[in-house]
Amino acid sequence: MAKAADPQPVDSYDLAVIGGGLTGLALAIASAAGGLRTLVVEPMPAAAALAAPFDGRVTAVAPGGRRLLATLGVWADLAAEAAPIEDIIVGERDSRLTVHYDHQSVGSEPLGHIVENRTLRRSLLARAQALAGPALTLAMPDKVVSVEPEAQAVQLRLAGGGAASATLVVAADGKGSMLRRLAGIDVLRWNYRQVGIVATIAHAQPHGGLALERFFPDGPLAVLPMIGQRSSIVWAAQERLARDLVPLPDDAFAEELAERIGDRLGEISLAGPRWHYPLSMTQAKRYTAPRLALVGDAARAIHPLAGQGWNLALRDVGALAELVVDAKRVGLDVGSPALLARYERWRRFDSLALIAVTDGLNRLFGNDLLPLRLVRELGLGLVERTPPLKRFFMHHAMGLLGDLPRLMRGQAL
Ligand SMILES: Cc1cc2nc3c(=O)[nH]c(=O)nc-3n(C[C@H](O)[C@H](O)[C@H](O)COP(=O)(O)OP(=O)(O)OC[C@H]3O[C@@H](n4cnc5c(N)ncnc54)[C@H](O)[C@@H]3O)c2cc1C
Repeated sequence: MAKAADPQPVDSYDLAVIGGGLTGLALAIASAAGGLRTLVVEPMPAAAALAAPFDGRVTAVAPGGRRLLATLGVWADLAAEAAPIEDIIVGERDSRLTVHYDHQSVGSEPLGHIVENRTLRRSLLARAQALAGPALTLAMPDKVVSVEPEAQAVQLRLAGGGAASATLVVAADGKGSMLRRLAGIDVLRWNYRQVGIVATIAHAQPHGGLALERFFPDGPLAVLPMIGQRSSIVWAAQERLARDLVPLPDDAFAEELAERIGDRLGEISLAGPRWHYPLSMTQAKRYTAPRLALVGDAARAIHPLAGQGWNLALRDVGALAELVVDAKRVGLDVGSPALLARYERWRRFDSLALIAVTDGLNRLFGNDLLPLRLVRELGLGLVERTPPLKRFFMHHAMGLLGDLPRLMRGQAL
């Protein structure tokens, strides 16, 4: 009689983070550094993430996020590659009415930093690799093929043949999250009928740390300072405009851009690949299920207009890491219904507020009706003339308001 195959050995973890993108890696570092046995499962091989070439995609990291990354020991590695945003000018088309946000009016720290996504990923991965060992296991490349929640833990099977059991599973697998679908969590979806066009430009004049946010009836355009005489553009073009823009050769595309940007940066040319993504908002109806928490884009993906998607994700990371590390320290269950309910309450309001702001701005400015134009001009004028209101908006965008997790206040867990 044939001998039955030995059962797969099952490794036990406190936390299994599914998805080793920017959000999943940040959470895994916080969790492992805080004393939880942590597993990360990510289909991209680590070597590919470490060697990724320049692809033009960048993220604006707000000061709250920078503090979290500094506390986790990630920021020091990338600081030299982060371009500070000293000023932001928000305005409409060619109108002279603008709001000027100057970092000096709220202190000495920049309003944010622009960092290439590949740099963020490389530095996060390098920090995670430094923690790898009994505290942190990086299964890269690997994939989850089945998830079975039980009363005290979740059983996971991996495509590479491994098996794991975790007290809490975290879905950090992005906007189309498989974990969220398997848990039966529905999403609200909103299609903006806009295409996000992302590119890097080189320009003749220095940007001086200035970010521009210009609103047009056919979609907002953000110009963000990068290291050197380069800027990143994020153009949320309405579908009709995008159909004309996307096929243009680089020179013609740069001309269209120059017309919208004006002469502030001098002559411009494209300095990297162009990307385009259909823009939609997704919001999970719940951020938790038994022994499961959603973080980052798996929980909600917002309009890129305000450059806040990953900053919200980092607030998820800060909040969840704080809850699980505190629970573990006093011997409590890190996946208990009470802990998950606290996470859900903590994060939902913040997300809804930001969805409402970015969605509202996009609608208010994406329309040429006279009454809306008047409201906009009144609004911009009011903000410009009311320093306390301006400072409030700046603190909000800098991720320094609300019930901030300890990591975002620069305190270790
Ligand atoms: C045009 C544009 C500009 C933006 N600009 C900014 C900005 O300036 N500032 C800002 O804060 N945010 C910005 N954002 C938002 C930001 O990019 C996202 O919020 C952020 O990248 C989300 O990271 P994530 O790790 O949650 O998800 P993702 O980046 O989608 O990562 C998910 C990871 O999960 C892995 N994965 C997928 N499926 C599985 C599976 N089944 N098993 C295991 N792993 C899996 C993937 O390989 C991936 O590594 C922008 C977004 C867009 C579209």
